[in-house]
Amino acid sequence: MENERLLMLPGPVPVPERVRQAMMRQAINHRGPEFGTAYAECVGVLKECFGTKNEVYIISGSGTAGMEAAVANFGRGKKIASMVNGKFGERLRDIGQRYGDATAVDSAWGTPLDLEALAAALEDGAEMVTMVHNETSAGILNPAKEVGKLARKHDALFVMDGVTSVGGDEVLVDDWNVDVAIVGSQKCLAAPAGLAAVAVSERAWEQIVDDRPYYLDLAAYRKSGRKSPMETPYTPAVPLFLALAEATAIIREEGMAARIARHRKMSAAVRAAVSAWGLSMFPQIDAVSAYSNTVTAVKMPDGVADSALRGTVKRLGIEIAGGQDHLKGRIFRIGSMGAVGAPEILATLAAVQYALKKAGVPGVTCGLGAAAEVLDA
Ligand SMILES: *Cc1c(COP(=O)(O)O)cnc(C)c1O
Repeated sequence: MENERLLMLPGPVPVPERVRQAMMRQAINHRGPEFGTAYAECVGVLKECFGTKNEVYIISGSGTAGMEAAVANFGRGKKIASMVNGKFGERLRDIGQRYGDATAVDSAWGTPLDLEALAAALEDGAEMVTMVHNETSAGILNPAKEVGKLARKHDALFVMDGVTSVGGDEVLVDDWNVDVAIVGSQKCLAAPAGLAAVAVSERAWEQIVDDRPYYLDLAAYRKSGRKSPMETPYTPAVPLFLALAEATAIIREEGMAARIARHRKMSAAVRAAVSAWGLSMFPQIDAVSAYSNTVTAVKMPDGVADSALRGTVKRLGIEIAGGQDHLKGRIFRIGSMGAVGAPEILATLAAVQYALKKAGVPGVTCGLGAAAEVLDA
């Protein structure tokens, strides 16, 4: 076995060999048919992942570049309602405040979004709504369809961060009235970090602002993207595009329906083990359907230090995530996104179970059987 660590993080995730190999070749011209074909192939599969017929552009930059592009091109100067129930909702709020007049529609991290307050903000004239579909910091899946319906009813643009749902869970940009959706390469797509893709609706294009950023000017991306062969406005991270083309080829081969089913099964297996261990999930929700299908957030048992739990798991060669900001030490998170299957899930759960026992958590029974039953189903 190669001596490499198993990253069970909510990004970056392990990158399949084929995808890594795609980055190793000699440089190619980014204004030529080979690059254009790779770009077009990525976009073809990403449209399916997004559930959209809208045009999709790829930016050289991490997911946050896509978030900033969305808000800066379509929200500058607008009144924005920023739905917040975790770290990434806050990030979209902060970007909204940088470019427009954003007000948070706040809920505690890991609790359901406040749709009544959103309705009130829309009545009050909000022209854009931002929301994180899968709030990675809290392991909660937010109701995109309902938020999209409200936004459309009030004719507001709907910007959705799909960074940890697109390519792993069901996303239906067109059906949900999403005007700008964003994904990052290092999450469910199982590609290397460094690319963001954005899907933009016709309604959004009609509202593109004049004072756009330069590097993240999506009108420039659209113009270059419509060339044949497809191009980007400036020199892109070509090796990452080639890797993403291979990662999207894997998605095409697996099929989105099978990929979504696999992600759902992996996260259900993690939840089954958590429940067998007698631990609590972090999200405070009414319906199981609001648990993230790509990352599981678990309350840290009383008296267990984050360093002890994750340190033990790490010594076994596996990395899981801790909590962010005020949740540091209060939760741990197990990513199950990208290419992971039963072997990675069972190895991770075995390591976490061992760490819990070692930390002296009382009453931890074996959760592997419960997980295996889910994986077998
Ligand atoms: C990872 C992540 C992002 C983007 O983060 P980058 O570090 O810029 O790639 C955005 N939103 C969510 C929900 C994420 O999980």
